[in-house]
Amino acid sequence: MRILILAIALLFAAPAAARAQSAKQFKTPDSASKVSETLAWASEYLAPEIYEKWWREIAACEKLPLPLAHYQVRFYQVNAWRFYDLAHPMYGIDFFGKKVLMWAVGLSYGKDLEMYLALPHIYEEIILKHEMIHFLMYWAGEKPDKTLSDPWHPPARFETCGVTTQYYGPSQ
Ligand SMILES: [Zn+2]
Repeated sequence: MRILILAIALLFAAPAAARAQSAKQFKTPDSASKVSETLAWASEYLAPEIYEKWWREIAACEKLPLPLAHYQVRFYQVNAWRFYDLAHPMYGIDFFGKKVLMWAVGLSYGKDLEMYLALPHIYEEIILKHEMIHFLMYWAGEKPDKTLSDPWHPPARFETCGVTTQYYGPSQ
């Protein structure tokens, strides 16, 4: 299965009051089975120290500024192997030209300063760096390129620096 790593820059900001709990609703493949029994379906976690190294490395490699705002990005685990945002499902075209729903292992919300990651992948460098590029581009004012079949993922940004838009790692 092709799992796209997606990003959406929403037009509104999350209310400051409800920050620890996710205000967004996600669909997961199996609503009866969490990856971790003890965690909520979606909850904030403290960014591990390694994320700061990855921010610096990917910004340097992409030659994009790393603004102080990156310290304000909040990270949320989604307690499933993959997911999508119920309010903003995204679609792709399969091999037969049929419209198919795209699952994600990571989603970034530039305006909200929120990154959501499938729990099994929160330490996966290529996924984190992929999502970080969405923030770096957002902060640099780089808009989706409508001339591309995938406007959100220009190859010059996403097929370099060890990052990819195609995820073939472990999934379940
Ligand atoms: Zn993406």
